[in-house]
Amino acid sequence: MDAEKLEKFLQKNGQPSFRLKQINQAIFQKGLATFSEVSTLSKDLRQKLENEIPMLSFEVEKILQSSDGDSIKALLKMSDGALVETVLISPKTDLWSACISCQVGCPMSCEFCATGSLGFRRNLTFEEITDQVLFWRQYVRENFSAKNPQLKFNIVYMGMGEPFANWENVQKSLKILLDENLFDFASRSISVSTVGISDGILDLAQKFPQVNLAWSLHFADDEKRSKYMPANRSENLEKMRETWRKYFSLTRRKVFVEYVMLKGVNDSIEDAQKLAAYLKSIGNSQLLHVNLINYNETFKNFSPSSKKQVQIFKQFLEKNGIKATVRKSLGSDIQGACGQLAAGK
Ligand code: SAH
Repeated sequence: MDAEKLEKFLQKNGQPSFRLKQINQAIFQKGLATFSEVSTLSKDLRQKLENEIPMLSFEVEKILQSSDGDSIKALLKMSDGALVETVLISPKTDLWSACISCQVGCPMSCEFCATGSLGFRRNLTFEEITDQVLFWRQYVRENFSAKNPQLKFNIVYMGMGEPFANWENVQKSLKILLDENLFDFASRSISVSTVGISDGILDLAQKFPQVNLAWSLHFADDEKRSKYMPANRSENLEKMRETWRKYFSLTRRKVFVEYVMLKGVNDSIEDAQKLAAYLKSIGNSQLLHVNLINYNETFKNFSPSSKKQVQIFKQFLEKNGIKATVRKSLGSDIQGACGQLAAGK
């Protein structure tokens, strides 16, 4: 929903300013799905709002739930027909994370990622980005929070697209999510994941120093990283080392280093050695936390590393002073896990 449009509409209709606050709270913070549910408004105003202000900028085409119930994926149809996926996952009890998309497709072309192979169609507008959060807030309210008011809700920019390749809209969306009159999220409940785009990382550190950052590293070897992640050809490991040093001089936030475990490709002890050495060479390695991600099957020719190999890799990192966690993979049975979003393809 376009908050500015709402404000203008209320002004035009001679409504006092507290009305705006009331409506914003009901929609953005409580997650009421329609204006008719905002009981403090007159019937006439509710009706006018229903007719004039669209709640979501897209249509929800399909909703799929994983068999364990911990992950829900929605296929969204934008007004120009573009299809985008957005996911809601529950990584632990009482916590739901909305995993939102910022582009239709992705220009980064990582070899192991299904979104990358769709190519890039267009950027999402800030409204199309924040409406995904609005949609999931409504969904959580309707389906879970009535039973459990303790629920926490956070946001990860880990759906389709590269946030720093659409930074204009992504930063506007962050402002709306953090605005205390609109969504009112805490910075720390939001995470942005990037392939590694220096200008964006440093701008985020300056403008939103408390927002969490995740870096999709996956290879600590330039030759391999450039082969599987073309973005490395313009921003290689040396450049990124400098970027992280600058980042840590701006903010002392922990950075999550994402590492997808690909059998026989990047999961050997030698790879672990390179990873530990590279992270240490950045300095502040106590602020770098490695997330080992299971490879989620796509139509690409990779296989996940064995559980045993993941443990060996993890133990090697820990012995070398690098903190590491094996991340639970959620939603793979609905093709809703990391790297699987391909909008129904
Ligand atoms: N473009 C951003 C946001 C995408 S987040 C980024 O690169 O960070 C999606 C995460 O899933 C990234 O860490 C991505 O590298 C990872 N990923 C991609 N394909 C995957 C796959 N098949 N299995 C597991 N993780 C994958």
